[in-house]
Amino acid sequence: MEELKGVPVEEWEKRTRYCGDLRSADVGDEVVLNGWVQTRRDHGGVIFIDLRDISGLVQVVFNPEVSPEAHAVARSLRSEYVVSCRGMVRARPPEAVNPRLPTGEVEIMAERVAVVSASQTPPFEIEGGGEADETLRLRYRYLDLRRCEQRDALILRSRVTKEVRDFLAARGFLEIETPMLTKSTPEGARDFVVPSRLQPGKFYALPQSPQLFKQLLMVAGMERYYQIARCFRDEDLRADRQPEFTQIDLEMSFVEPEDVMGLMDEMFAHLFRELLGVELNPPFPRLEWREAMDRYGTDRPDTRWGMEIEDFSGLYAATACKVFRSALEGGGRIRGFKVAGMRDPARRELDDLVAEAQRLGGGGLVWMVREGDEIRSPVAKFLEPREVEGTLRAAELQEGEVLVVAAGGDEVNPVLSGMRSYCARLHPVEAERFSFVWVTRFPLFEWDDEEKRYKSNHHPFTAPSRECLEFLEERPLEATSDSYDLVLNGVELGGGSVRIHRPELQERVFRILGLREEEVEEKFGFLLEAFRYGPPPHGGIAFGLDRLVMIMAGRESIREVIAFPKTQSGADPLTGAPDLVYQEQLKELRLRPL
Ligand code: ASP
Repeated sequence: MEELKGVPVEEWEKRTRYCGDLRSADVGDEVVLNGWVQTRRDHGGVIFIDLRDISGLVQVVFNPEVSPEAHAVARSLRSEYVVSCRGMVRARPPEAVNPRLPTGEVEIMAERVAVVSASQTPPFEIEGGGEADETLRLRYRYLDLRRCEQRDALILRSRVTKEVRDFLAARGFLEIETPMLTKSTPEGARDFVVPSRLQPGKFYALPQSPQLFKQLLMVAGMERYYQIARCFRDEDLRADRQPEFTQIDLEMSFVEPEDVMGLMDEMFAHLFRELLGVELNPPFPRLEWREAMDRYGTDRPDTRWGMEIEDFSGLYAATACKVFRSALEGGGRIRGFKVAGMRDPARRELDDLVAEAQRLGGGGLVWMVREGDEIRSPVAKFLEPREVEGTLRAAELQEGEVLVVAAGGDEVNPVLSGMRSYCARLHPVEAERFSFVWVTRFPLFEWDDEEKRYKSNHHPFTAPSRECLEFLEERPLEATSDSYDLVLNGVELGGGSVRIHRPELQERVFRILGLREEEVEEKFGFLLEAFRYGPPPHGGIAFGLDRLVMIMAGRESIREVIAFPKTQSGADPLTGAPDLVYQEQLKELRLRPL
């Protein structure tokens, strides 16, 4: 521990103004400021400090001729000391104006300064601290949060939740809390469990989402519920995930999918207008899942730019080209897109495209470049003139432009989708800043090859599309559902569905999922029971708040918009969680130590 004794700490005066608010109009005013010393520059005679509070920074000047006492104290100031400072706002000389700082036209001529509390030397510089190692920054998160980018992210987050609350409250939604100590919920991840002391051997689960409770609230007649809800999922933290995260969660009675989507269109338009000054144009496009897969190769399409995938199969029905023919014979298709921004590519650029496709897991990417009325392509010599001509026309390929195609079934979707993103990065194309799209009617089930059974694509309460009810048992994989996901710039912001509200239908779905009666009774018996007491038709949705704020703040990771996030291994370097507990605690819980 660094020695902090000896720094005289004095009485402090309460602020009259915030640092970041001062402007030319305040020149001549005497102000008292409270805040942290960001930097100190000693220019021999005169000392400058940048003083920081929640609102921003202002420059304070200590001149020995104005106040020798204040100047003497200023000499002892170090980074991150807390001070209270009285002084006069004055205009900076023209050559000293700092146009990058909102307060850059003024400075404070200090008359008095008191050290309110001292600080050890921080383990990393606050300004520019973004470069420091992340574990170190998380270990001292309270210092990391002093950086203005971090402060701005948390301010934005708070404003997002406030706007959401205001928007929903004005439309009759009730904010209702649901339990944290509960039973397992069916979102498909591993539960975090909490041992019960009063009932030894039994466990609560932390909620993966408030799904079951929000449906019960609809049975309870609350009609419109929402919650800024904490959710817990014990997953391996690959990618940008956190074991605990926050959802904007809502549920409504007497609705169809369009009612939920329409309201959410309005909510996002409101948020982006109020908080970013961006006008979105609701309603956002609705794209059925099948269409999304065909046109973008993914259920999370990035629709900021074109490069939509087209199907050229029809042109190659009688082709002599082996790769294409065998794909078609195997029930596949020949699909691809024109690479935006690429013209007269060198061989190396084309090889890079193929290499990228290989990295994405697909070997057979074929490129075609228009050269007059011919194409340059590894498959050119196998193509008939009519196939070439048809392709040039269908793809609207101009001289020197490039088409990439992949032949095969749905397994080539990730390649085509990945190539779209890759090509967009390759030649930055004109892109919308925020592009929202709804993906609807997901398949109700998917086949789990490992467990050899059907699984719910969303969760088991999702209603099948009406016209699929007749063949649910016969052809489960063909059934679609009343589900919808909202996607922004290729990121899934959230998803939901209209729910099953008839116990018979719910039981049918459980049966297809291969859940035994006892299992259903044990896991969801209480929900089926509630459904015997007049459940209203209902539906809802949940959005990942962390991801939403991350995108709105233009950040790269959700950790940057969470006050106290965990590392990839689920640890909190600040508190040291997770940690061992005392033997005594284990004993009370009747748990044996490892
Ligand atoms: N509970 C669902 C989820 O967390 C969302 C919903 O269906 O409302 O994904």
